[in-house]
Amino acid sequence: MHPKNRYHAPHDFPALAAIEPELAGYLITTPDDRISLDFAAPRAVYLLNRTLLRRDYGMKNWSLPEGHLVPPVPGRLDYIHALADLCPGARRVMDIGTGAGLIYPILGVYEYNWSFLATEIDPAALRNARAIATHNGTRLKRRVTLRLQEDADTVFAGIVKPDESFDACMCNPPFFSSRSDAREAARQKWRKLGRDVNGLSFGGTATELHTRGGELGFLRRMIAESRAFARQFGWFTSLVSKGGYVRALKPDLDRAGAEYRIIPMGQGNKRSRILAWRYQ
Ligand code: SAH
Repeated sequence: MHPKNRYHAPHDFPALAAIEPELAGYLITTPDDRISLDFAAPRAVYLLNRTLLRRDYGMKNWSLPEGHLVPPVPGRLDYIHALADLCPGARRVMDIGTGAGLIYPILGVYEYNWSFLATEIDPAALRNARAIATHNGTRLKRRVTLRLQEDADTVFAGIVKPDESFDACMCNPPFFSSRSDAREAARQKWRKLGRDVNGLSFGGTATELHTRGGELGFLRRMIAESRAFARQFGWFTSLVSKGGYVRALKPDLDRAGAEYRIIPMGQGNKRSRILAWRYQ
């Protein structure tokens, strides 16, 4: 975890349940006698993150429609801090695929006072993100602009206007090339933890989770497209879920003429990385 991440200490679940009484129904006792949460229950994961956003970021009206991807706040915060290290003094950031939860803009506005242009291809997710931006105080409302991307195969075109510029863009790309890939990945995750759970505990609609060619296809298109927007962004960045994908993307970055770096993130079995590139 990033040294500045406020979630270094384990969650105090009884304290969180005092804020959100429904959480009490999902508390469990671990074999070593600690109070934890039933992370296999989608509702518990949703309530936990909603409560963190309420307690730590003042989100009094943050909710997700049934079935949408629940963003784990501590992990999302790591990207925000890493981006702030990469772009000291950043003011304007583009969030590609903000999701129904508007998670990166919330964290970026409250931690660093950035302004955001946030995009989505999923109209239902965009509608929810807009409701969150509108009903959680003037600061968020003033600093967040939302736009619908109508072409799932592009990220910048149709969104970024010729006279706009950004210190950086950020993205948590859709992972899977199909719905069944997504289910299989979830099943394997739980099998590793000794559980057999059907369905996706982190939720997510079909549009949220999959994209043509999977994550690698998405990143290839993003890199190729970034060339034409080189002068409008200080840094282009995205999460990349697998180290092997970064290796696979090097020829794409070279072809585009980009300079790039890899910023390691996460800990334990949740290792991840940010790929950052720019043009001189
Ligand atoms: N940022 C959120 C959601 C990530 S999931 C989070 O971190 O939790 C990826 C999101 O990208 C989905 O909501 C999906 O609908 C959206 N998406 C997929 N292709 C896109 C595109 N071309 N432009 C903008 N958003 C896109």
